[in-house]
Amino acid sequence: MSAAFHGAKFCWMNGEIIETEKALVSAMEPIHLGIFEGIKAYVENDVNSRGVLNIFRWKPHVDRLWRSAAVCGMKIPYTDEELLEATRKTIGANGFDTNVYIQPRIWPRAGTPEKVHVIVPAWTFETVLGKDNPRFSKNRRLMISSWRRIASDALPAQTKAWANYANSALAMREAERLGYDGAIFLDNRGFVSEGTGACIMAVRNGKVITPPVTASILESITRETLLKTVSDDLGIPVEVGDISRVEFYASDEAFLCGTGWEITPITSIDDLPLGKEYPGTVTNRIAEYYTDVVAGKVEKHKEWLTSV
Ligand code: PMP
Repeated sequence: MSAAFHGAKFCWMNGEIIETEKALVSAMEPIHLGIFEGIKAYVENDVNSRGVLNIFRWKPHVDRLWRSAAVCGMKIPYTDEELLEATRKTIGANGFDTNVYIQPRIWPRAGTPEKVHVIVPAWTFETVLGKDNPRFSKNRRLMISSWRRIASDALPAQTKAWANYANSALAMREAERLGYDGAIFLDNRGFVSEGTGACIMAVRNGKVITPPVTASILESITRETLLKTVSDDLGIPVEVGDISRVEFYASDEAFLCGTGWEITPITSIDDLPLGKEYPGTVTNRIAEYYTDVVAGKVEKHKEWLTSV
C-alpha cells in the first residue's frame, strides 16, 4: 500500500489505528483466501457536499461479513460493535467529511490459519448520485463477457471472497481490451447473472426485473434495498426472475446496482442501445430515490443509517 491509500493516511488493523503505510504483512500471508466487505457512508442531506456522515445499512453489511467468514471457515475475533467502533475510528482519524467507502478485510494468518488479520481501511470516493451529476448520465457501453460468472459449487459466489474477484478481473480486462466500459456475466446456465462488482436490474414494459440469487449473484444489499423500496415506495412493479440474453438486449432500460456502483445506468450491451432514452425514466426515478434514502431524507428509512 502507498503512504496514503486513496488519500487515507490511517487505517485500523488488528485492534489499533495505524498509519496506512505501516499496515504491512508478510508476502507469505494467504491473502487470496480472504474475504471482505464494501460499505458506504454518505454525507447527510446532500451527497455532493461536505458534512456529517452516516453509514448506510451497517447491519446487513456486517452480517454478510460474518456469513462470508463462516462459509470460508474463518472466525472474526471482534464483535459487530467493535467493528463499528473500528470503522468510526478510521473515518475520524482521517478526518473525512465527504462520502466514504469502507472495506473491512479479513484473511487467515500464515502458519496459524485459525487466527485472522482484520483490517478496516476507508477512503473517499466520487459518487454518481446527486442532482444533475454528470457522472450518472455518462454513456456506458457494456459487453456480455466471454467469461461465465463462477458457479456457487466452484467458489462461494454469494459471499465476498476475494477469490471470486479473479473472475471479475478477467472479465474487466477483456472488456477494457475490447474497448468497452464494463462487462456483464452470464451464469453457467446462460442466463444473465450480474456485473463484475454490481447486480443488474433491467426495465421491461415499466417493470423492473432482476436475476435470482441462484443465478450465481452476490447477495447484494443494494438489490435487497431496491426490492424493498421500488415497489412499496415508488409503486413500480419489481420481479425477481431469470433474464435471458435476448430479453436483456431487448430491455427498455438497465442499470447496475451495488454499494460501489450505486445506481449506474447502462447505455448499450454489445453495442445494442437499450430503449429510446438514456438514462431512462425508471432508472432516473430509482436513482433519485436511492440518493434521498442514503442521504437520510426519507424518514421511514432513517433506521438504515448509522451515524459515524
Ligand atoms: N456483485 C458483486 C460481485 C459485487 O462485488 C457487489 C458489490 N459488493 C455487488 C454485486 C453488489 O452488492 P452490494 O449491493 O451488497 O454492494
